Amino acid sequence: TRTPVTVTVTGAAGQIGYALLFRIASGQLLGADVPVRLRLLEIPQAVKAAEGTAMELDDCAFPLVSGIDIHDDAVKAFEGANVALLVGARPRTKGMERGDLLEANGGIFKPQGEAINAGAADDIKVLVVGNPANTNALIARSHAPDVPAERFTAMTRLDHNRALAQLSKKAGVSVSEIRRMTIWGNHSATQYPDVFHAEIAGKNAAETVNDQSWLENDFIPTVAKRGAAIIEARGASSAASAASAAIDHVHTWVNGTAEGDWTSMAVVSDGSYGVPEGLISSFPVTTKDGEWSIVQGLEIDAFSRTRIDASVNELSEERDAVRKLGLI
Ligand code: NDP
Repeated sequence: TRTPVTVTVTGAAGQIGYALLFRIASGQLLGADVPVRLRLLEIPQAVKAAEGTAMELDDCAFPLVSGIDIHDDAVKAFEGANVALLVGARPRTKGMERGDLLEANGGIFKPQGEAINAGAADDIKVLVVGNPANTNALIARSHAPDVPAERFTAMTRLDHNRALAQLSKKAGVSVSEIRRMTIWGNHSATQYPDVFHAEIAGKNAAETVNDQSWLENDFIPTVAKRGAAIIEARGASSAASAASAAIDHVHTWVNGTAEGDWTSMAVVSDGSYGVPEGLISSFPVTTKDGEWSIVQGLEIDAFSRTRIDASVNELSEERDAVRKLGLI
């Protein structure tokens, strides 16, 4: 039998955590033959709720679960972790300035980066879901100097999946016929969902749809503002689709992208496509044998360039702000 993979989930008692843990435990994160050891991290006030979730996980009698531990101490929670899903974050509350939000999250992601550096397994892979995800990942990464920078990633897979869904509806095709969708930049309203390199049934998607006005006035804002539309409709946030995207992100990272396709992940920039080195920005990436690489050589037209630059500039500003606060 295989040795269990240790998966640490922070914010385990939250909405996303509740949608995520059962899917990890059922084998959807890593594979139906991979046993998992779950470590749940919560703040002290939420430990009891995490215990309740763990009781339900017990009651599912998942054969792949080899153990569940609950912690309120990051050092213990990340000890031996192979995969870390950083979901818990400080939400923006009314009247909160961006600086306050970044500072509050620095207080969470700095110690978590340190704890990952100190005790995670050598093959640790980190996905940051908690917002502002890209910059939280940057903070964690900068406090984990012994962990290769490419192990810290942030989630834009939900945006990617939302873009697939919108394009499939517009073109009247199944999502399985669409390849090479890309989200560029920040997981925020400035993100740029790019269909100019996407394909529908092997043909260029932008040319197939041939509707620039839909692209600019419908597709891009719909994808970027989908989270708010879901809160408006459900009266609660898009926790289940966020959890589903987190599962997809890690599953693709570990198991690889399909031949001829790619995915979107926010990863540390090597300067590709003019994105300043060191920023954690979303790119088109392929994955193989547990490693990602940025797709090279795509032509970026003036329309795409403006959109990418706007989102990347926002990431630079966030980096400057956390630098000023001494968080990186
Ligand atoms: P959720 O589980 O709904 O959300 C958690 C984080 O995911 C938020 O930062 C949220 O950002 C982000 N997120 C990213 N994409 C999405 C999406 N599509 N839809 C919704 N959220 C998204 O929050 P809860 O408040 O229910 O739970 C958070 C839990 O984290 C709490 O139990 C809290 O105790 C815990 N926590 C744990 C910490 C730790 O383990 N050290 C530290 C801080 C909190 P946004 O705010 O922008 O919606």
